[in-house]
Amino acid sequence: MTADRHVPGAHGASLNPALEGVRFCPSCGKDADVEFPRSIRCSHCGYGAYYNPKPVACTIPRTADGDVLLLRRGFAPGKGLWTFPGGFVDLGESTEQAATRETMEELCIDVELGPLVGVYSRPDDRVVLVVYEARALGEPQTTPEATEVRAFAPDAIPYEELAFWSTEAALRDLLAPVDAARRSP
Ligand SMILES: [Zn+2]
Repeated sequence: MTADRHVPGAHGASLNPALEGVRFCPSCGKDADVEFPRSIRCSHCGYGAYYNPKPVACTIPRTADGDVLLLRRGFAPGKGLWTFPGGFVDLGESTEQAATRETMEELCIDVELGPLVGVYSRPDDRVVLVVYEARALGEPQTTPEATEVRAFAPDAIPYEELAFWSTEAALRDLLAPVDAARRSP
């Protein structure tokens, strides 16, 4: 299962499709200096563009009982596997707003954001995840993006069926204190 787990940016996926194979300046059409995957600069007209990892804002919604709401992804990457709601931060909104909006879009629930769980990035990924704990307000529903929604007890997280490495890392960071407390007498 681990070998099949999708990792954004890995498995031969380009770190920057927008700059893949580009040689000419999009402004003046002359030869440009391309430093893949980071930048393109044009000495003829002064055009320049710099590419950075994109922020993805997420919530880990929890029920009043402390269970974790996970969704089964309806689309690739990670289709059919479990994760928490999240998506790209749009220009014009904060990470908090994006996390709340994405949770509404995917699970049809409002959330009350809690503390930051963590920030997850790797050199070979195109995205940087910003993950907040959240309190679920209302009953989640399935959507095209979330074909199944289930509340998991902290000791019943389907770790072998998670969509991304960052899904597992964030869930472990969130729930580690719980696990530790349970282990202590
Ligand atoms: Zn140019």
